[in-house]
Amino acid sequence: MTKRTGYLEVIAGPMFCGKTEELIRQVKRAVIGKKRVQVFKHTLDKRYGSERKLYSHAGITFDSDLVSGAAELLKLVRPDTEIVAIDEAQWFGETLVPVVGKLLEKGYHVLVAGLAMTFDRQPFTPVPALMALSDRVTKLSAVCSICGADAVYHKRVTAKGPKVDPLKADPGFVSKMDASVFQARCRDCYRKK
Ligand SMILES: [Zn+2]
Repeated sequence: MTKRTGYLEVIAGPMFCGKTEELIRQVKRAVIGKKRVQVFKHTLDKRYGSERKLYSHAGITFDSDLVSGAAELLKLVRPDTEIVAIDEAQWFGETLVPVVGKLLEKGYHVLVAGLAMTFDRQPFTPVPALMALSDRVTKLSAVCSICGADAVYHKRVTAKGPKVDPLKADPGFVSKMDASVFQARCRDCYRKK
């Protein structure tokens, strides 16, 4: 086997910007191109029922492996895999950064989708760090739920549910991360109710 060179693409943006659709689109293209692909997501993310599939808000799906953290992900990556895709990377926390580094050293093409910011506009570890060391960043915007402009933020619009530290995500809260709790907002509308 010839030596491969690692490559990292990060697909980042707020909720409802189509990150998972873009990840699935690229994975499906790779599969058509006869590439060997493995797709992972975190056990925290059970929003849409079935655990072994990626589900986008738009209802597009793709089979995935469910892992409890970055160390387990690293163990499950097969030597003959060419592309490692990771959805909702924010649930993995900072341990994902060195694991992605190891995958890149081994020559894998790594595709990571995740939230770059929390609902209170703070950097959401580890996505910003992964963006910094990536070869390519695809930054997507959503559509503002108030005015229809491009939205780079998502805002929590209900006081219901636990006041969660987004860096220590609570599974009960993650399961409620949908349009009844969060809305996409542009810069101008972020402060509106
Ligand atoms: Zn707006």
